[in-house]
Amino acid sequence: MRRALDGVIIIDGSGAPARRARVVIEADRLVEVVEVGEVGEVGEARGGEGALVVMPGLVDAHAHAESDEAFAALLAHGVTTIRNPATAGERPLRPAPGRGPDVIAAGPAIDHAARAADIASICPAADADAVRRAVARHVDAGFDWIKLYNGLTPEMVAAGIEAAHHAGRRVLGDLVATSWREGAELGVDGLCHAVPRHAEMLPAARRADYAARCATGKGPAYLHWLELLEVRGDEVARTADVLAARAVPLDVTLVALEAALLHADARYRQQVGLDPLAAPAPAHVIDRLRAAFDTALALVGEMHRRGVTIIAGSDTPRHLVPPGASLQRELRLLCRAGLSAHEAIAAATGAAARALLGDDADRGVLRAGARADLVLLDKSPLDDIDNVGRVTEVILAGQTVWSRPRR
Ligand SMILES: [Zn+2]
Repeated sequence: MRRALDGVIIIDGSGAPARRARVVIEADRLVEVVEVGEVGEVGEARGGEGALVVMPGLVDAHAHAESDEAFAALLAHGVTTIRNPATAGERPLRPAPGRGPDVIAAGPAIDHAARAADIASICPAADADAVRRAVARHVDAGFDWIKLYNGLTPEMVAAGIEAAHHAGRRVLGDLVATSWREGAELGVDGLCHAVPRHAEMLPAARRADYAARCATGKGPAYLHWLELLEVRGDEVARTADVLAARAVPLDVTLVALEAALLHADARYRQQVGLDPLAAPAPAHVIDRLRAAFDTALALVGEMHRRGVTIIAGSDTPRHLVPPGASLQRELRLLCRAGLSAHEAIAAATGAAARALLGDDADRGVLRAGARADLVLLDKSPLDDIDNVGRVTEVILAGQTVWSRPRR
């Protein structure tokens, strides 16, 4: 099976300027990506029918998708590869061929037994040796990545990274007891969420206040942390510079933070000390939550400015974080944080694929030899990032797996 897309505008996922090209698919691969002319105005491509813009299939670097419904929704929004950052089960959960994105699966998150929640996506470990044994089990079970979690001490994180790398696996850290800087220096291959909550990134003079606020139990730690952060402070710069120098990519899941902060559900209202039944929240509370979210956006912008690789992840399927649509929303939020539309698209294509699969990743960019994972759009997301929602067709490994119903 051979198919040619002629004269389309390509956004190739590398961050290179959009251009007009001929893209040829054979079996599951791209066999030709040839420039056929200048784009001039991207807007020029509008007005015809059907697909005008072609991008690589999107990568959601943080999707806990484990149901047929979630897999189908991801494909319908152009997501052709996900990393499940902590599988709730003892084996990787992958969709039937053609029924969902390619799943790069991390095992259940390994956490300090003293602090670990008793849920299927968490794997408790009492000490560094237990972390090593958990890594070995996850490798044997066929997991592609190892996930290290909140409560692990630097010694346990070091043991986990060493064991994982020895077995040829990459490590994602959702670290809190160990700082992001320490994690990066120990060799972690990725970090996640925009709010690390470790006191080290706060100005020294505010750390006691942070501990005191957390001790009250009123409000979640991430809210206190954001309220005490100095985005342009030396502490943020120090961490960002280590992450940038060590090329540790960050999937920031802003959409999940936005959902938690701004679209507060009853449980969240309870956490911040509001009557869960009293709606809407008082204006001063809304202002406080908005300000905290703006600080998170500014932090991501500062990390990006200092050279940290930001990649797109959603943390779906949390409340108000639906599969697929939330990744499109994440791109909008990355633009609000200071990435250009081009950079936001790269964060969900080329940069994400390299972060998950290494520099020789076979996807995330449009080039001959890459997997034919494509999203076809009828408007350019370079004009307006929300146009990533204008999907007309999704191609996974050369097969059309979703197309917009014709009127
Ligand atoms: Zn998550």
